[in-house]
Amino acid sequence: MRALRRFTVRASLPEELRPLSQLVMNLRWSWHPETRDLFEALDPELWRKCGGDPVKVLGEVSAERLAALAKDRRFLRRMQDVVDDLQEYLTAPHWYQSLGAEAPATIAYFSAEFGITEVLPQYSGGLGILAGDHLKAASDLGVPLIGVGLLYRAGYFEQSLSPDGWQLEHYPSLDPHGLPVKLLRQPDGSAVVITVPLPEGRTLHAHVWRAQVGRVCLLLLDSDIEENAPAERSVTDRLYGGDEDHRLRQEMLLGIGGVRALRAYCSSTGTPQPEVFHANEGHAGFQGVERIRELTESHGLSFAEALQAVRAGTVFTTHTPVPAGIDRFPRALIERYFAGFGVPLDQLIALGAEQDPSKFNMAHMGLRLAQRANGVSRLHGIVSRYMFQDLWPGFDPDDVPIGYITNGVHAPTWTAREMIELGAQTSSEGDPLVIDGPEHFDGVDKIPAADLWSTRRRLRARLIEEVRRRLRETLLARGAGEAEVGWTDTAFDPDVLTIGFARRVPSYKRLTLMLRDPERLKALLLDPQRPIQIIIAGKSHPADDTGKQLIQEMVRFADDPEIRHRITFLPGYDIGMASYLMSGCDVWLNNPLRPLEASGTSGMKSALNGGLNLSIRDGWWDEWYDGQNGWAIPTADGIADPDRRDEVEARAIYDLLSTQVVPRFYETDRDGIPTRWVEMVRHTLRETGPKVLATRMLRDYVRQLYVPAAGSAREMAQSGYGAARTEAGWRAHLLEHWGDVRVAHVEATGAGDTPEIGSTLALRAEVELPGLTPSDVEVQAAYGRVDDTDALHEVTTVPMQHEQTDGTRHWFTATLPLERTGAFGYTVRVLPHSAHLADPAELGVVAHP
Ligand SMILES: *Cc1c(COP(=O)(O)O)cnc(C)c1O
Repeated sequence: MRALRRFTVRASLPEELRPLSQLVMNLRWSWHPETRDLFEALDPELWRKCGGDPVKVLGEVSAERLAALAKDRRFLRRMQDVVDDLQEYLTAPHWYQSLGAEAPATIAYFSAEFGITEVLPQYSGGLGILAGDHLKAASDLGVPLIGVGLLYRAGYFEQSLSPDGWQLEHYPSLDPHGLPVKLLRQPDGSAVVITVPLPEGRTLHAHVWRAQVGRVCLLLLDSDIEENAPAERSVTDRLYGGDEDHRLRQEMLLGIGGVRALRAYCSSTGTPQPEVFHANEGHAGFQGVERIRELTESHGLSFAEALQAVRAGTVFTTHTPVPAGIDRFPRALIERYFAGFGVPLDQLIALGAEQDPSKFNMAHMGLRLAQRANGVSRLHGIVSRYMFQDLWPGFDPDDVPIGYITNGVHAPTWTAREMIELGAQTSSEGDPLVIDGPEHFDGVDKIPAADLWSTRRRLRARLIEEVRRRLRETLLARGAGEAEVGWTDTAFDPDVLTIGFARRVPSYKRLTLMLRDPERLKALLLDPQRPIQIIIAGKSHPADDTGKQLIQEMVRFADDPEIRHRITFLPGYDIGMASYLMSGCDVWLNNPLRPLEASGTSGMKSALNGGLNLSIRDGWWDEWYDGQNGWAIPTADGIADPDRRDEVEARAIYDLLSTQVVPRFYETDRDGIPTRWVEMVRHTLRETGPKVLATRMLRDYVRQLYVPAAGSAREMAQSGYGAARTEAGWRAHLLEHWGDVRVAHVEATGAGDTPEIGSTLALRAEVELPGLTPSDVEVQAAYGRVDDTDALHEVTTVPMQHEQTDGTRHWFTATLPLERTGAFGYTVRVLPHSAHLADPAELGVVAHP
């Protein structure tokens, strides 16, 4: 029989132990070892049984044990220490509090998934973990962020394997009352209910759960409540499941419901309403539409006016380097769902317009709703500027206003405690949280090589122990008998070079590339003197049978009795498994099809623990590979035939392994220490460690995006949004006349027939601006090296000065220095100009000669 409903019964805590419930409800325990130690001390046996989940432990610990602890003075003192520590963490001023009044008072951060701890399984992979790390780093730095997401009753899915290696999915039914979340309530104690209108007069209702992530509050909307009809109850059933209709409802709840939840939360807690709204990927795009609707209602703004006010305070981050990965809906579906929403349909549709008129593109809407946008690594910034260049016609990809902020990872979550205690994350420049991010973790220089090495071995040994346990469990679950799994007790070896590969399994990540030449891989695994061992994990999207086939191929390969003690695929990749893997593996392998990995973060987690990356130069590794922190797999970018490319790149991996990685690992000195390896570990901790920190990433977001966005939003809000009205009016006027803007004539004087270096070139341009004035535009001279096709490279642009006006004709001048020998070229262009533009390309119009 199946239960109709489930809930969790907890022992009631004795008065003396009440603070434990505060501790368990603040997810800071997920990155604070001393708090976890305290929960372990409640009942060490139970702690292990519950897989280190403090919520479960507190739910299951016996009343007798609690009664005993309530009288245990040492335990109570220790608990008080942890409580005091949390209190100080929550209230002391941090980095953000040193910023001036121009920093926004509150920032809303929207994401379809959040990966904070395996106890709250609301993530599928990198995007969600990044969002979780974003919140944690914001908390550490005192950034006043509020997260907004959905509470999926079954999370993503739990993964297991069938006897023949096929991925099986299970959908747990999560009871929010058994999770570290609290219901958002009205002052009178009743639950806050958020509503979102649906077609045919139906309404979607949701409760709001609050998770506390250190200082940061995360609001999670949940539609599984009695106010809803069955179809609406299931809206938040699972992450990335269901059809288009289902996904659209989820995204409406996230965006529209999310803004409404924020409003309710801020007004009930006295928190200032957010000035900046950050959309992590396109899923939350409707947040901007809801804010536009609010302004049209509250201040009588037109759609276009409200759009100016909204986009000024909006930041959009794209994570998708392939058009196929973009979230799109049939336009007709949007029209049906938004017919009665309260904004003009044609203007809403225009926000999501793309090449295909029958589609509504969420990434395009994200970009049109945000004055500031970024990719997540340097390379991904470039890819994004190419990918979205159609939104800024007339501009070169280099001019497309999408910047980049390279991802980072939350060090306290992802670094093994032993590494931190060893001093691997200290800097002579001070505390990386207080100061502006150290250049180097130079504290690592003081650690003797023997200590570094023994710590690396300890982490590897702990991983191996965990691998054996999971391997055994997996085999039993796949149908093996007890008698058949004895070999797992000695499978894998704490002294063998250990390589990790774990990530989601879309085809571009090429899970099975290492199987390209099975004999060669086998030889590496079984080398009698210098073997390697490989631990693999990852989930395939439930609807992706190709991904499942790759997993099956891997599992079947690893089932071979000859090699099964040296290579394995472990099901159930999650944050818990990731911590073991990324701290214990010596080498972190990544072989995506370049440039399809937007950033990648698992390799960063490995680096923080002294792991060496062996990776294609894609995402973050393209930027921060420095020759000593690991190895770059040469890419065969130029080869069009994918099969041939796989062949070449796989061979490069085998070659690197056998000629560089393996020898270096096993080349030890008289004391058994692989000195050159340890120096690479030290270098990685010292140089790569500080770069990959999520706190570095957060500072970048605050400085480059949040503070300027708050400034723009405040400007637009001035005089009851009068500034937004003026700006919208100016834009409409400018665009109406733009078609008549011409660069009529350009003349250059001063350089003579054979210009010499050091001389200058005087440019004079005649520009026609019917209906506009010179202050509406910026006329630029652009110059640089020129190639055989007259294309400009290494371009410098300078504004030209307005000199003279005659009716609709205007003259502008500039002086260009000739600083370089060789082919030189210049041109002139006209761009819109207003004090409120964050980028001259923003309106997507430009006039060339
Ligand atoms: C870090 C992490 C990811 C993302 O890793 P990538 O390198 O971006 O693929 C995915 N899942 C889990 C559980 C992680 O910890």
